[in-house]
Amino acid sequence: MSFDHLNLLPILLKNIRGAGYQTPTPIQEATIPLVLAGKDVLGCAQTGTGKTASFALPILQRLTEVPSSRRDARVIRSLILSPTRELALQTWENFQIYGKGLPLQSCVIFGGVGQGAQVEALHRGADIVIACPGRLLDLMAQGFVRLDWVEIFVLDEADRMLDMGFIHDVRRVVRALPEKRQTLLFSATMPPEVEKLALDLLTEPEDVKVDPVTSTVDAIDQCLYYVDKGNKKHLLAHLLRSEDLENALVFARTRHGVDRIVRDLKRAGIYAEGIHGDKSQNARQNALKRFKTGECRVLVATDIAARGIDVAGLSHVINYDQPMEPEAYIHRIGRTGRAGRTGKAISFCCIDEVKQLNQVEKLIGKRLREEKSDWPMEITTPSEPRPRPPRPARVSPSGEAVALRKRSAGPGTAGTGRPVQRVRRGSAGNGRGR
Ligand code: AMP
Repeated sequence: MSFDHLNLLPILLKNIRGAGYQTPTPIQEATIPLVLAGKDVLGCAQTGTGKTASFALPILQRLTEVPSSRRDARVIRSLILSPTRELALQTWENFQIYGKGLPLQSCVIFGGVGQGAQVEALHRGADIVIACPGRLLDLMAQGFVRLDWVEIFVLDEADRMLDMGFIHDVRRVVRALPEKRQTLLFSATMPPEVEKLALDLLTEPEDVKVDPVTSTVDAIDQCLYYVDKGNKKHLLAHLLRSEDLENALVFARTRHGVDRIVRDLKRAGIYAEGIHGDKSQNARQNALKRFKTGECRVLVATDIAARGIDVAGLSHVINYDQPMEPEAYIHRIGRTGRAGRTGKAISFCCIDEVKQLNQVEKLIGKRLREEKSDWPMEITTPSEPRPRPPRPARVSPSGEAVALRKRSAGPGTAGTGRPVQRVRRGSAGNGRGR
């Protein structure tokens, strides 16, 4: 099926083409007609399935086609509630892309930053507001937000809202909405609490369910290298020099890590650029542009900065560090192997990351194929007493991990001050019982 069969406005079709999308994803195919028809929808889908466009496109269309009941003022006509700042921002960015050229304004509201700019955006007038519940309630209490004219309400990632303890906030927001409205509720899982919420919020909803994102990764060739932390840079440089590698998106865990990898590659004579939350929006966009046009073959990014990166014909994704959350693996590798092309995803794993690797493999339901290199894993004693998930001690306001300052350590301590045991590969194994 093509987007042309979804009865979308020509300008939306143009914007979709501009975004590089060829065909609708299953959730888009199922949801767009329902939303256009004014139905309530209960969608079981994760981020990464194209869920955002499945509600953003028909919302933009309905708000464009149906005039507002308030001709005298710009009022909030659609509210999208998101559990996290990152998702809210990402959703807002998508609205900007899909809604380019339409006479609609949108703004994003979340906590952790000053409220001035958000209040200003509300004053200027916003037809569409994407918000996290806490800050939204705060601004409502201060009289900056009125939800009396909301026509379409979206509750995104409802299960995460519950997990994060936002359920009461969500209910308070819902109480401020008009009774007569269209409601769309999306959730990756449907625990009984979400079903109950759905029952309360939705009227005769249409159920839409798409397979979790795990199923989309089968088309991508995935492999794994066990490698000591200190040797990752050598392995990376070696792989980047190989001939079948057109371009690569390299994922690091921290901003500091991104900068270090770019520096190490430069020393090895490989030009790379890095993007992360510390870089200005301009710098990020320019780096991305050079990557997309092929001027730069290697882009190094954190998970947050890499969200929404769509590069047609990306040949390789390299997980230099294991992701903090196993789901991020699927988002990362989903950047390659798009639109029927082949893609390759290579993961590095040092002894401290075995636990995260196990979680990834559990999620995708298979073991990654192991490849050998000139830099086999030789350190088999974790550098912490109990390997923690790589959740950083400090998290930036945008949710990225921020590297901690290295502790000083004596020789042979792998940076921890604790002696490490060096063993030959095979004698002690890698803790995965292969
Ligand atoms: P989402 O689930 O909305 O977070 O989307 C995940 C990723 O898929 C985003 O990078 C979107 O830009 C991309 N995407 C959404 N719809 C399509 C489509 N029809 N074709 C290709 N990519 C898409």
